[in-house]
Amino acid sequence: MRIPLVDLKANYLSIKAEVDEAIASVLERGDFIQGQDVKLLEQEFAAYCSAREAVGVSSGTDALVLALMALNVGKGDEVITTPFTFIATAEAISQVGATPVFADIDPRTCNINAAKIAEAITPRTKAILPVHLYGRPAEMGAILRLARRHNLYVIEDAAQAHGAAYEGRRVGSLGDVACFSFYPAKNLGAFGDAGMVVTSNPKVADRVRLLRDHGRRDKYRHVELGVNARLDTLQAAVLRVKLRCLDAWNQRRRAVASLYRRLLVPDLLALPPEDRGSESVYHMFVVRTPFREALRQKLQDQGIETGIHYPVPLHLQPAYSALWHRAGDFPESERAAGEVLSLPMFPDMTPEQVKRVALAVTDVLQGLQQRQAVA
Ligand SMILES: *Cc1c(COP(=O)(O)O)cnc(C)c1O
Repeated sequence: MRIPLVDLKANYLSIKAEVDEAIASVLERGDFIQGQDVKLLEQEFAAYCSAREAVGVSSGTDALVLALMALNVGKGDEVITTPFTFIATAEAISQVGATPVFADIDPRTCNINAAKIAEAITPRTKAILPVHLYGRPAEMGAILRLARRHNLYVIEDAAQAHGAAYEGRRVGSLGDVACFSFYPAKNLGAFGDAGMVVTSNPKVADRVRLLRDHGRRDKYRHVELGVNARLDTLQAAVLRVKLRCLDAWNQRRRAVASLYRRLLVPDLLALPPEDRGSESVYHMFVVRTPFREALRQKLQDQGIETGIHYPVPLHLQPAYSALWHRAGDFPESERAAGEVLSLPMFPDMTPEQVKRVALAVTDVLQGLQQRQAVA
């Protein structure tokens, strides 16, 4: 039996009746654009994050672009972020005309290193954009202190961390504004593209509301030039059903993670750390080993699917060649890119599946290490 990296079908089947009904009622109402489910999801998701406002948008990438636009980040500004993330994080910065400035990661957590952020601040720096990678909150205490000292905005890329908490507070309520993705495989996923901007600043929320819908105050009065980046009512209806399950699903992800932790052998590979005061929602369960490629191949031969998040750090992407970075500029990100392996992780994963993966990983790594010891 094949074990996938994520199982979207199992997830759908677990809520099929409710989701089908929610979709049918949108079809019957016909309020496809800015319908009632969009407004209700916004209220429910803001409350979920302990924030005042949430604005539904068409994707996580658009959430980032609109948040930057709403804060007037643009040409001539620098935004400090991690090179070890999905391209969208930096792409959004470039999209608004600003320059992404990278700061290397803490190799233990794979999140941006606050000490490296401090070294990267210049008079042009306007914002810090940390990513809560793999569902683990970034070092927000140190990041917020730096931001306060240098008068910078903090924009959370929370695309992988719906429901994660830092010192008892939900991500989404920590910085000036937070951006969520509801890409299908995320902890809270739509049936297509969708996203959300979350903030407790009513001015920012109002500006994002304007910008996502052609800068309009009413139907044909456009007070500034915006974009079309609205959240579909159909997606909002699906997401409202799923939001009610999110805490239970995150709990099950944590149970899968703790079973992995019990079964995997820390001498053979690096496990994700569990830190006090920081509650990960395990969007992914990522281990590290220098034998990554061989392990991945052997797992695949046994029908176990894995992923690599991410194989190339952003400063070495061809699309960012204009930033003139070279191999060696962010050594921890580069080393992580060569060693990380995402094991199957989804809420419906059974203990038997977790055991099969863990035993296979241990078996393969023991074999590889013995072979290396002999050679
Ligand atoms: C998924 C993701 C995004 C982009 O979200 P989309 O909804 O796919 O546009 C941005 N940042 C991170 C860290 C992500 O994982």
